[in-house]
Amino acid sequence: MTEPAARRSSEPHLAPVPDACYLCRGGRLTLRHAARGGAGPDGAAAYNCTSFGHRHHPPIWGCEDCGMLFQWPMRSAQALLQAYQDVEDPLYVAEKDNRYRTFRRVLKELGPADSRSLLDVGAYCGYFLDVAREGGFRPEGLELSRWAAGHARQLGFTVHGVPLQELASRGGTYDVVTLWDVVEHFADPREELAAAFQLVRPGGRVYLSTIDVGSLVARMLGGQWPWLMDMHLFYFARRTLAMLLEEVGFRVTDVRTYTHIISADYLLRKVSASFRPAAPVLELLRRGMPGEWSIPFNLGDNMLMAAERPL
Ligand SMILES: [Zn+2]
Repeated sequence: MTEPAARRSSEPHLAPVPDACYLCRGGRLTLRHAARGGAGPDGAAAYNCTSFGHRHHPPIWGCEDCGMLFQWPMRSAQALLQAYQDVEDPLYVAEKDNRYRTFRRVLKELGPADSRSLLDVGAYCGYFLDVAREGGFRPEGLELSRWAAGHARQLGFTVHGVPLQELASRGGTYDVVTLWDVVEHFADPREELAAAFQLVRPGGRVYLSTIDVGSLVARMLGGQWPWLMDMHLFYFARRTLAMLLEEVGFRVTDVRTYTHIISADYLLRKVSASFRPAAPVLELLRRGMPGEWSIPFNLGDNMLMAAERPL
């Protein structure tokens, strides 16, 4: 559909104040966290999933009615697509063993494989695909980063390098669709989850993980919560994520906290990026610690939600 030039040039996503809540469309919005860090790193560098650019984000608004939090003003969908296609993140590869440990733990949440077909959205370097395949699933990936998709294809997987809506329009379906730490990055999560709904066969399941802005830790840390950052556009809580899933047709079946397995080295780097005053002490600690130490990390501020496409 072609939009009139006048409407295109007004770029509503760049208006200083949002006029309605993204989720419930209510008008009672408040500024929850002022912009921080000036203009963040531009382009692909800001979207590395291991990015330590925590101190940067645009204003974050919250809805008094439904509890949805989101960045505003927002980059255009086109700018985001470009950035995601260009992402390269060697540090992610360095954390490979711990990613595998995290995904093996997560895979158990999906129940017996029974040769079910699976689409992993935001498959990145294909590590979850690999774990799902060894567990008996028939997985394919969707990944926009050309660099990451290349890694996944080297492991022998079919990886679709197109947006979710485009894949959904082709008409195929899967028994299971997974989105690990992906939904908070979408320019339009409603549209993307509606496409995911089309891609799940009736009776099939979707599984998502994302940061939980309604968690105790997030509420206690407020503006110091380390997940407030440029690359996270939408901040869901259990209630708001369930609202959106049910709006597009899913029925939520389960929600729990999500545990990442990370190295001690990675953890300390994350913490010192978030809490600068502690950085010198943490750096000393980091040097004195075997880098390969792995820790199950769960502060209750990451959630895993499961939902079914009703028959
Ligand atoms: Zn709302």
